[in-house]
Amino acid sequence: MKNKEVEQQHIEAQQRLNEMLTENGMMKEDFKIVAIGYLSIDEEFEKGEVSNNFLTKLKVLWNEGMTLGSMGSHECEFCIDEGNYKNRGLSSSEKVLIDKENKIKYLFPEMIFHYITKHGYKPPKEFIEFVMGCLE
Ligand SMILES: [Zn+2]
Repeated sequence: MKNKEVEQQHIEAQQRLNEMLTENGMMKEDFKIVAIGYLSIDEEFEKGEVSNNFLTKLKVLWNEGMTLGSMGSHECEFCIDEGNYKNRGLSSSEKVLIDKENKIKYLFPEMIFHYITKHGYKPPKEFIEFVMGCLE
């Protein structure tokens, strides 16, 4: 599943939530939704080194708090393409991290760890900076 599709699903969910909140006279949620690391074989993705420190922090954040259930399963299309079917990552969990300061909701799949360590994926700079700023 691709970043844009995931964002669209969550934007629609936020809209439904907001309708409910407004009906009940409550404050609307107003976050920018940014999906990260839903890679697909027919799209280019950024590659590069990420620090161990970043990976460690991301793992800690992953293990903290609430993890979303599935929005469909994610398997690694790159491994499958390489005939590496057995070792493909497979996970359907997702995580939301909220950047309150910048009003952003980041969504990412558990597969992000596989993409980073096995395929050299490098997440966007803003996300890395946000993660590095957490847990200080
Ligand atoms: Zn893979």
